[in-house]
Amino acid sequence: MEGTMLAQRLYTDTMTMKVEEIPIPQPGHGQVLIKVAFCGICHSDLSLLDGNFPAQLPVITQGHECSGEIVELGAGVVGWDIGDRVIPTSGRPCFKCRQCRRGNFADCQHLQLMAFAYDGAWAQYAVVNAAGMTRVPDNVSMEHAAILADAVATPFGAVKRTGKVSLGNAVAVWGLGGVGTHIVQLAKLAGAYPVIGIDVKDSIIERALDLGADYAFHSDDPDLLEKIKDATGGRMIDVAFDAVGIQATFKQAITSLDFEGRAVLVGLSGQEIDGGSILQFGLKRNQALGHLGYRAVDIYLLAELLHAGRLDLSRSVSGIVPLREIERGIDIVKTKEGDPIRILVDPWA
Ligand SMILES: [Zn+2]
Ligand SMILES: [Zn+2]
Repeated sequence: MEGTMLAQRLYTDTMTMKVEEIPIPQPGHGQVLIKVAFCGICHSDLSLLDGNFPAQLPVITQGHECSGEIVELGAGVVGWDIGDRVIPTSGRPCFKCRQCRRGNFADCQHLQLMAFAYDGAWAQYAVVNAAGMTRVPDNVSMEHAAILADAVATPFGAVKRTGKVSLGNAVAVWGLGGVGTHIVQLAKLAGAYPVIGIDVKDSIIERALDLGADYAFHSDDPDLLEKIKDATGGRMIDVAFDAVGIQATFKQAITSLDFEGRAVLVGLSGQEIDGGSILQFGLKRNQALGHLGYRAVDIYLLAELLHAGRLDLSRSVSGIVPLREIERGIDIVKTKEGDPIRILVDPWA
């Protein structure tokens, strides 16, 4: 496609950001060009901005959680048409590592991440891989489609793959922002009971109860473990999710476990792991599991659940900002103004 488009560009040598006109990119072999509908603002986008993730390119368009409509097919793309509404996956396998050489692309060890290794979707158009795209069902909005590709898919991966939550499991979730809120909803959908939300803020605790948590407690409550014990009828937690990812919360998560319970670390920070008593951890045969991301097929499964009305994301989009005002959107995520679950960027507003 000829012409120019509006895109956010981050100049990583000076960490300065501009929204400017650049040429519309061309899809290569196996790729498509999409007209971006919406793209979320994720904490990992902020991690590049504040230097916690290393910059891989001197200038890059950020944003890796989007929905859009196909406007051009690259060579070799089959099964897709112009006008199809899609959700791209936010990574490309390297095709070089041990896993890729074995054909296990989903477990690529050097996954190239959209918005880090190649241009993302805080732009009017984006080039994405055809492999791994999900078709957006007719009854699913493009706003909800966009957030599936991380804000909901990462919790889905944590609940289904790493945490293996099953019918009747007692589940607790530390940190009820974008990720934790969706873990609460998905654990409930998986048949967990009770589902306990834990956070520091009253308004967020209230929201967790509204969204289906059976109980919600303060993480700094000195009686937290007693309350978890009461809520579970004395059996404690089968699967504890730490969506905060700091020493204090992960230690609480491990300490809350029943025999053979597992603690799943979803949030990330630069801190060291402190799992509490080694004796208790061993006696209770507990497990501590790290989690990262999702598989492309998870987006497809979530789209099916949304299509069937099993998953309610009506409160998940907290606000939409025009691309030209991207810095305001980033600010809302950074300051947590209004306790946002997800803020979206609209490149056409
Ligand atoms: Zn993300
Ligand atoms: Zn690889």
